[in-house]
Amino acid sequence: MQERFDIYNNSEKTASIQESTFSRFVREHYFNAQSMFDSVTRENSSSYFCFGDMQHNVFYISDNMRQEFGFESNIVPDLIRVWEERIPSAKHLRLYREDIQSMICSKRTAHDLRYQVRKSNGETIWVRCYGMLEWNEEKTMPLFFSARITHQDDQFVVDPVTNLPRMLAAFTHLREVQCSGKSQLVIAFSLNSITEINNTRGRPCSDRLLRNISSTLMDRLFDRMAFYHLEGMRCMAVVDPECTESPSELIAEIRAIIEECCHEMEIPVHSFCSFAVMRYPCDNLSPEDFMGHIISLIRLAKSTPDKPYIEYSAESVGRIQKMSKIALALNQDVLNGMEHFRIVVQPIVNAQNGTVIGGEVLLRWTFDGENISPGVFIPMLEKSEMIHTVGLWVFDQATQNCMKLLRYDPSFYLTFNISLRQFSNPDFAASLIDVVAKYGLDASHLTAEITESCLDSLPESLARFAAMCNSIGMHIALDDFGSGYSSMRMLLRYPYDIIKLDRSLLGEIMESDQKMQFIRSIVYACHQFGKKVCMEGVETEEQNNLIRQTGCDMIQGFYYYRPMELCDLYHLLSRGDQYPGSNL
Ligand code: C2E
Ligand code: CA
Ligand code: CA
Repeated sequence: MQERFDIYNNSEKTASIQESTFSRFVREHYFNAQSMFDSVTRENSSSYFCFGDMQHNVFYISDNMRQEFGFESNIVPDLIRVWEERIPSAKHLRLYREDIQSMICSKRTAHDLRYQVRKSNGETIWVRCYGMLEWNEEKTMPLFFSARITHQDDQFVVDPVTNLPRMLAAFTHLREVQCSGKSQLVIAFSLNSITEINNTRGRPCSDRLLRNISSTLMDRLFDRMAFYHLEGMRCMAVVDPECTESPSELIAEIRAIIEECCHEMEIPVHSFCSFAVMRYPCDNLSPEDFMGHIISLIRLAKSTPDKPYIEYSAESVGRIQKMSKIALALNQDVLNGMEHFRIVVQPIVNAQNGTVIGGEVLLRWTFDGENISPGVFIPMLEKSEMIHTVGLWVFDQATQNCMKLLRYDPSFYLTFNISLRQFSNPDFAASLIDVVAKYGLDASHLTAEITESCLDSLPESLARFAAMCNSIGMHIALDDFGSGYSSMRMLLRYPYDIIKLDRSLLGEIMESDQKMQFIRSIVYACHQFGKKVCMEGVETEEQNNLIRQTGCDMIQGFYYYRPMELCDLYHLLSRGDQYPGSNL
């Protein structure tokens, strides 16, 4: 959309150019340019205005621009060059020059650039400059330039942690894209482990990480995309229409920057960010509906970590709709007395001879006859109060079935998973004691699996839980050790009986002898402290052979058994003829 500012001079050229509604209005009615300019610049601290005669190279700037950037007068000769003195970064200056140069050389009419400028009080701020250049009819002479320079560091507009403009500014940008009618790529992403980092390393650490990430993204990519901070840990980038890189290339660049910042702070990057990609305008969506869609796409990306990003398509929209149906049905099924839920058990074997000695209880839920991954429905349950009901039901099932399994193998044991959220229920420990008493089970045949993220966030309730376990003889296992935030301090701090090594460590062992030696040392240290070690996720014979050399006590993995239905487990134990062999 380009209005022509013919009002300022040059009446003879107007006749030869097709007249805009604006100029016709100005010609036919009373018009006062001074009043209009005053009205748009008045008390507007977040925008500066300037315009100028390109042939005489003289410009007029608004009062706030004159005051805040230390100009002596509102009339500034050679403004485009003089403005350079206020751009402190060499990189930003290069970009500014290149953009002006290319606008002149390629006879462009628009200039849209984000960069940092220094005010006369020494403060450096981010601005977005949106300018228009008018040419003579033959496009041989630039005639008139006018620009709005928007200050982006406004407290209300900018997130104080990331320094990125907020949702409001993102909406303004989307509206501009919508008006321009030019399709633009939008990349949204979420940083998934910030809550865990908050819990384990503290808020200042996660804030520092966020600041590093956003400033590096802005620094390296600001010439190709404009970044915004949406709510939560979500960000969005509107890609410049001139940018020729593909979504996957751009996402790879963003991901590499995020991972680099994590590495610098020794933070694990596994499944750290999820990406969604959409073009805008799209399907007549308003900026608000577009935002809703792209946020749903990020959620979808989070539950599909094997895909580098999720793109808007009929299929992804269908999947979003399915996710909301799933959330509804899950709630309903819990309220209906755990309808469509069941437990399965994955056998755990003795590492030396492969005999089944116990098993891990894993929850299953079906929706429309389809098994939904616990990776999808457990986080949904954890977000609501439902995890308390479900967790207790799983424990009841584990206790009840353990009683029966002891008839086949009197030393058999079952492990069950506990979510961090369950500890926030003050009745949690007492209700477990009630269940054990109801079935009269010797609780030493049960082991509670707890992940490391529970540790630092809730040390007190965990200590109480450990005391309760101790009082009834129930064991505790540290689950997924080595998957992220592990430390030896954690291992020794709480009275774990079993340490379960995460399957991501297996990949490391396969890499080098040194890493194998490292795992061996962990096993050795655990043994020194009287703890048993279980390796999870063993899938192949080669892995199995290596793992057995580390001295670990138990193995759980597809190489031996996949999670199985209870009836199959009873069958397996009653046969008493199990032996190691690939079950794949
Ligand atoms: P987890 O506690 O680490 O459970 C082990 C997961 O690893 C299971 O996935 C199991 O099927 C998988 N696994 C075992 N061996 C192998 C292998 O050799 N290769 C591969 N690729 N995978 C293997 P599943 O059943 O999908 O459960 C995923 C997660 O869901 C569990 O991870 C646990 O965190 C959670 N979960 C499952 N049931 C419950 C529950 O009752 N309560 C809570 N709070 N969480 C649960
Ligand atoms: Ca587990
Ligand atoms: Ca595990």
